[in-house]
Amino acid sequence: MISIKNLNKIYKNGSVEVHALKDVNLEIEHGEFIAIMGQSGSGKSTLMNIIGCLDRPTSGEYLLDGIDISKQEQDDLSLIRNKKIGFVFQAFNLIPRTNILRNVELPMIYAKVKSSKRKQRSMELLEKVGLGDRVNHLPNELSGGQKQRVAIARALANTPPIILADEPTGNLDTQSSEDIMEIFKSLNNDGTSVILVTHEPEIARFADRVIVFRDGAIIEDSQKEGVLK
Ligand code: ADP
Ligand code: ADP
Repeated sequence: MISIKNLNKIYKNGSVEVHALKDVNLEIEHGEFIAIMGQSGSGKSTLMNIIGCLDRPTSGEYLLDGIDISKQEQDDLSLIRNKKIGFVFQAFNLIPRTNILRNVELPMIYAKVKSSKRKQRSMELLEKVGLGDRVNHLPNELSGGQKQRVAIARALANTPPIILADEPTGNLDTQSSEDIMEIFKSLNNDGTSVILVTHEPEIARFADRVIVFRDGAIIEDSQKEGVLK
């Protein structure tokens, strides 16, 4: 599904260069559940931005289902992103003055899904994450864990094969974090690939494969025992 070869990312700010990813090689199959770990500044977000088609590498190859991402124009990148990737963020990034039903509808509006179908799907997704009785609530009327469940429902709106989550439990208490990880686990059991960044070993243990970054390079890539992919 994802094939990354000799990938480099260099940020240039005037005369200052930061080599954020150094010759990264990575193969990810459909249906994997991966945790990416590593110290702050080790390149995790940069990799997620590239995998999520938000940014392009400086050099090297990134194939997503056979499509060479580094060769795509910006407009085509957004199309690919809308179809293939659902994003979940640490800070939830919900629209504050809009109820959660509408928040979940948003990606479907961009995808030009008809209004009646959008509403129905949004309802179904909110039910799936346990918020079927809250659809008219505003984000601020919900707890952190509930907000993140809305964000997951939104990420699923266009049925993407891949969910990317950057520190999805970073703002949550232990119980809510575990609840969120159980949701990711069940999505993964249903076939969605999940790639998440976390600092916490307790969160990483939900994943089947843990990849550790240091100074822009992979220093460890380990598969949980008994997991056949
Ligand atoms: P992590 O997510 O592991 O904390 P990042 O991918 O955010 O690491 O950053 C890797 C390195 O690249 C860091 O040195 C960071 O300061 C730098 N960096 C990230 N984004 C930018 C940017 N837009 N411009 C310049 N440097 C950046
Ligand atoms: P995270 O908490 O996910 O690691 P950061 O706080 O490192 O994210 O980065 C937040 C945003 O700032 C990202 O879009 C990243 O690309 C950008 N950024 C990070 N480091 C730098 C930097 N040194 N210069 C400019 N932008 C940066």
